[in-house]
Amino acid sequence: MKKNPQTELIHAPRKAPQYISTVQPPLFRASTIIFENTDALFNRHWTDDYDYSYGTHGTPTTFTLADSIAQIEGGEYCLLAPSGLSAINLVNSCFLAHGDEVWVADNIYGPNMEHLRNLETRYGISVKVYNAKDVDSFQPTDKAKLIWLEAAGSVTLEFPNLVGLVNKAKQANVLTALDNTWGAGLAFNAFDFSDQHLSVDLTVHALTKYPSGGGDILMGSVVTRDKTLHHKLFRMHAIQGISISGDDAAQVQRSLASMQVRYQHQSQSTLKLLDWLKQQKEFVQVLHPADESSAGHDYWKEICTTGQSAGLVSVIFKPEYTLADIRKFCDALELFKLGFSWGGPVSLVMLYNLKDMRVLEHTHLQPGLLVRFCIGLEHPNDLIQDIENALKQLNTPQLE
Ligand SMILES: *Cc1c(COP(=O)(O)O)cnc(C)c1O
Repeated sequence: MKKNPQTELIHAPRKAPQYISTVQPPLFRASTIIFENTDALFNRHWTDDYDYSYGTHGTPTTFTLADSIAQIEGGEYCLLAPSGLSAINLVNSCFLAHGDEVWVADNIYGPNMEHLRNLETRYGISVKVYNAKDVDSFQPTDKAKLIWLEAAGSVTLEFPNLVGLVNKAKQANVLTALDNTWGAGLAFNAFDFSDQHLSVDLTVHALTKYPSGGGDILMGSVVTRDKTLHHKLFRMHAIQGISISGDDAAQVQRSLASMQVRYQHQSQSTLKLLDWLKQQKEFVQVLHPADESSAGHDYWKEICTTGQSAGLVSVIFKPEYTLADIRKFCDALELFKLGFSWGGPVSLVMLYNLKDMRVLEHTHLQPGLLVRFCIGLEHPNDLIQDIENALKQLNTPQLE
């Protein structure tokens, strides 16, 4: 039947042949997924993995990425969310209910703590804070449902006693969720670590960081090896309408091919900067898990057998330096850009006041203002030069 040009344009006659093969998989963008016939419509099972019934439940593009992320992290099942924080929310809303207790490390990713505090106020969930370096500070009651782990911890980069914490959680029947953004599935395997072949129950990963690698996409994931946990998450994911765009998924998929190379490179560059930073008189402390003086270094060595350690390093300035000095330093940097996040090509800097960030006492941290560097893909010598120049701008007090 001859149709009008307008109709012809909408119902394009050409379809890609089955045999065509490309380096990157074809990209599916969908809200509507078209059923072949009413049989297919009535036989859809949206509660299964890999059922194609509506865009929010997934497309071949998002399922391909989810499988890749599960594989990188050593897991079995994966769900994708529009940001790392949204993936954290998925775990919290799936496994916590009124009256439950959740344990969270003092050095956890800050917005996760804020999210939990909000649940505490509004939904009667009890939030308990533990010290990531001290297993004894984790004292689950019979109401405890979930413990959040992070290795290394946010900003101050302490490496926790994962073996001790996970063993204790398992004994108490508490679900273990690890924010795996720092290790990215590359520094260690969260589903098989230490001589004891331990495994966490769930990992959350801000794909915004290394998997995206571009500093331009927001995405998160929740991975598990446990089918029951996955199905609970799957249902929550569906009823909350958590979904991601096909274009974003394809971009992250494309970046995955170079992720390991980038991670290794950024780890190596950071070690080079670490050596140099340690020699600078302006800093009272340099924080990085591969450094012997950093909290949890021995745990890092035990767990991260590849020797990799991501691209983050923090410094604490001597207490003589005021906030105005540190701001001057940050503003004087040229290659390091002032901004949140990490894992992209451009090096970033961020300043923090530790006093506002921790509720527990931390004797291992010197007082002073903290600056975190996120090492990008620039040559490390240029980055060192940039910091050196910025330090010269400081109104240097009389230092020995
Ligand atoms: C960035 C980050 C997140 C959150 O990811 P977004 O995509 O920015 O929401 C969670 N955890 C850690 C450790 C992060 O660094």
